[in-house]
Amino acid sequence: MARDRVSFFGEAAPALFQTSLFGFDTVEAFERAIREGAPYYTRGENPTVAAFEAAVAELEGAEAARAFASGMGAIAAALFAFLRPGDRVVANRPVYAGAHSLLTGILKRFGVETTFVETRDTEGILKAIPGARLLYLESPASYTFEVLDLEPVAEAAHAEGALVLVDATYTAGVLARPLEAGADLVLHSASKFFSGHSDVVAGVAAGRAELVEALREPYMLLGAKLAPFEAWLLVRGLRTLELRLKQHRATAARAAALLKDHPAVRQVYWAEDDPLAKKYLRHGASLVSIELEDSDAARAFADRLRHFKVGVSWGGHESLVLPLFAQPRVARAYGFPGGMVRLHFGLEPTELLLADLEQALSRLS
Ligand code: PLP
Repeated sequence: MARDRVSFFGEAAPALFQTSLFGFDTVEAFERAIREGAPYYTRGENPTVAAFEAAVAELEGAEAARAFASGMGAIAAALFAFLRPGDRVVANRPVYAGAHSLLTGILKRFGVETTFVETRDTEGILKAIPGARLLYLESPASYTFEVLDLEPVAEAAHAEGALVLVDATYTAGVLARPLEAGADLVLHSASKFFSGHSDVVAGVAAGRAELVEALREPYMLLGAKLAPFEAWLLVRGLRTLELRLKQHRATAARAAALLKDHPAVRQVYWAEDDPLAKKYLRHGASLVSIELEDSDAARAFADRLRHFKVGVSWGGHESLVLPLFAQPRVARAYGFPGGMVRLHFGLEPTELLLADLEQALSRLS
């Protein structure tokens, strides 16, 4: 039975193994299951979760994948698996605020130091690498969407014996392939594009088999296991991933053009404008941030949008607006200008969303 092909009757959707444990008739059968890595307790292995892991491995061109109860679960398990007290991490800035807090809070308390370097400062990143144990990177970067020059950075890291971890949530295995550009392990919040329906919180790590295997212990012992039903929903979500991303991207591109021309918008942050976009983003980008005059303008704009809910997360069917000043962890980590707003364009009709942006902006000036 292949790991990703649990089929009994040729069913179109995978079977849902909604069970915490697997019982055996004999001690010998139980011992065999443990020996062979077969499911015996869902915190370790579960066939529905394995179906999701296999699908992500295929999508990312990875040998293996491990699913977690959240994106932060995947990030934390990877950092705890590969770091020791006294190690140093190099991270680009800005990474997702939760990862920033983990690096500068809990991991610092455990004796791990992190050097943050601006995403586009390739020279600065290269200079910071000697002596680092691990690179924790995100490209496009959270909130500002700069693209990192991963190839030379990964090459330099490997020459120094450092591991390269990339949070690839924004590119979702479709818009870019970080493993092909030199990443050792990609990490995802599957709560975003992989789910696509805003009904799951999940994470996944994918890469070489031995690195994914190294996540087994933190995964088992930190208890960040993905539940079978969430995995089942994710397998369903992945079926429409490419189609959804095409639509998210098409609306985002039209919106970025509109926003760049608008007098109330001071700056547009859109990964496709990055000088490295052509090198790394083979199918474009998705989210857009803008800078308005100040936090009052950001608040008024968000409140006036009718087809965007104010909310965190992104990647689902619905459009979302997030004034960054309103999210304490982000504001604390980065101190972005008060007028900065992140926009996720959902699957509503493009014209409806563009008209909504126009009406909300027109009332600002
Ligand atoms: N990585 C990125 C880029 C994110 O935006 C998020 C969540 O917003 C995470 C990781 C964390 O994922 P989760 O919320 O599934 O723990």
